[in-house]
Amino acid sequence: MVNKLYLVTPRGFCAGVEMAIKALHWLLKIYDETIYCYHEIVHNKWIVKEFEKNNVVFVEDTKEIPEGAIVMLSAHGTAPEIELQFNNISSLTINSVCPLVTKVHHEAKKFSKENTQIIYVGHKNHDEAKGAIGVSPDNMHLVESIEDVKSLEIGNDVALLAQTTLALSEWEPIMKYSQDRFNSLKMPRKSDLCYATTNRQEAILNILPEVNTVLVVGSENSSNTKALVSMVNNQGVEAYRVDNVDDIETLNLNGNIAITAGASAPDHLVYEIIDKINPDNLEKFRLKEEDEYFPLPQQLRSNIKNISDFLSILNISETNPKSEYGINNDKKWTATEALNSL
Ligand code: SF4
Repeated sequence: MVNKLYLVTPRGFCAGVEMAIKALHWLLKIYDETIYCYHEIVHNKWIVKEFEKNNVVFVEDTKEIPEGAIVMLSAHGTAPEIELQFNNISSLTINSVCPLVTKVHHEAKKFSKENTQIIYVGHKNHDEAKGAIGVSPDNMHLVESIEDVKSLEIGNDVALLAQTTLALSEWEPIMKYSQDRFNSLKMPRKSDLCYATTNRQEAILNILPEVNTVLVVGSENSSNTKALVSMVNNQGVEAYRVDNVDDIETLNLNGNIAITAGASAPDHLVYEIIDKINPDNLEKFRLKEEDEYFPLPQQLRSNIKNISDFLSILNISETNPKSEYGINNDKKWTATEALNSL
């Protein structure tokens, strides 16, 4: 029996995920045709299915899209070479990369221009890591462990970058080892690990002494979700990743539990699980507020503005049911509302 369930904040959608979901929603509404999305827009099964039901086709290769298609590139960032290929085939390509991933791409470009060798700490085969390595494949080296760094023979002019969604426990030992090995190691002024990843991890760390189990809502391919699970396990506490309410059926939950969600998990999935557990006590634990906001991609904003201007010339914007979603209201409008209006 579950005595107490702590609902942890911050959890769930980050500013990058909010932006990417709303951007894809807009493409569907504006063009009313199949939209091809390179990689899953965000790594969440439920969201991917919702978009698939609404005429989005997710692809892993430019060969899968027809000439003249409308394309969205996912939040995880796309290698410049691949983006160019999509630009050449599509009639319109909108890049919904998170600005915090773009920051890492800029750092990679800057260091590679200086002919510095770059160690990139990330997960092989993760979309974000593939996109980042694609910025400068000749002098970037993907590592997952200290052993990987040990095996590199790359001189001493070295920079260290990271996937934004690593667990602190994955990142810090590799960073410390690299600082010891390369005495003039270059690093970005601000950590590559993003605010959403670190906030969700810190919130759980703070509640950990009160609980015997942690539930992390999120999909198998969500890196920051898995980082939350591994961080909790490293502290000697039981943690389970669950996609949805069905996944808790087989768990023997009791005592005090904390529930959180990775940055791409919709909150209704969290509440369905809480309803199912039906704890004696539900307590909200809030570590901090998040107010980050990332505007829609510039090219999409221009598109929406052109259409709005056109409607106002025709004097029909006031009666257009979609006008309440106007570009000027984007900050007040959420990805959850966008998903609900698909
Ligand atoms: S987890 Fe961080 S880097 Fe990834 S989309 Fe969210 S804010 Fe951006």
